[in-house]
Amino acid sequence: MTNLMVKVRVKLVSWDEIVDWTRRLANIIEESGWRPDVIIAVARGGYVPARLLCDFLDVTDLISIQSQHWVEAARMAEKAILRYPYKVDLTELNALLVDDIVDTGESLILARDYIVKEWRPKELRIAAMQWISPVAKIKPDYYLIEVKEWVWFQYPWTRLEDISQFITRIFREDERVKGREVEEEELKQLFIEWYGIHPHEVREYWDLALKKLTAKQILVKTSKGYKLGK
Ligand code: AMP
Repeated sequence: MTNLMVKVRVKLVSWDEIVDWTRRLANIIEESGWRPDVIIAVARGGYVPARLLCDFLDVTDLISIQSQHWVEAARMAEKAILRYPYKVDLTELNALLVDDIVDTGESLILARDYIVKEWRPKELRIAAMQWISPVAKIKPDYYLIEVKEWVWFQYPWTRLEDISQFITRIFREDERVKGREVEEEELKQLFIEWYGIHPHEVREYWDLALKKLTAKQILVKTSKGYKLGK
């Protein structure tokens, strides 16, 4: 997974792991004897797990709510905000609120409080694949993995976004490269040092990220490699 010398601990998650984790999470929910009538995905991280839980739990009703907290990979915003609030009537229904991970838990708390007050389900329970127990302000009713040491789960649905931000952070924050151009080989070494993952593990995402960062002029391609743009 990661070694202790890296600057940001990252666990690269595969699609197969996601399917396996949500299937096992569905088992836990099923074994509790409680059955949701509707699943509510927290956008954006809860979308894929929520959709898979619908499949494994045989639930046809899936809606969502956008509660946002982290603006950048492994860097959180000051405060969670609820985007696009809307009203729906869930009285009579058991609702399961689903997110990928409970880190601080603030975005889930915000979504939960809003749903309980405005959508009024018969009962609301919370499920997530991961729960970072030392920092979370809320414990989900259902979770698969208790994480005891903080790590950034690099889920497959944010791979390009995360890799792009990870590269940008090296250029902006690593004193050794500030203000100068960096050859791609050196950049790869720095990436391994910072995040404990090798660019070849993320294959085409590496090239796509460099392309995207160059197109956005965050990076500038030079004769030897790349340097920070704007
Ligand atoms: P939070 O409100 O701190 O519980 O986190 C809100 C959302 O940010 C989560 O649902 C994830 O989508 C993302 N996130 C937060 N922490 C992590 C982490 N350690 N690894 C991966 N994604 C995270």
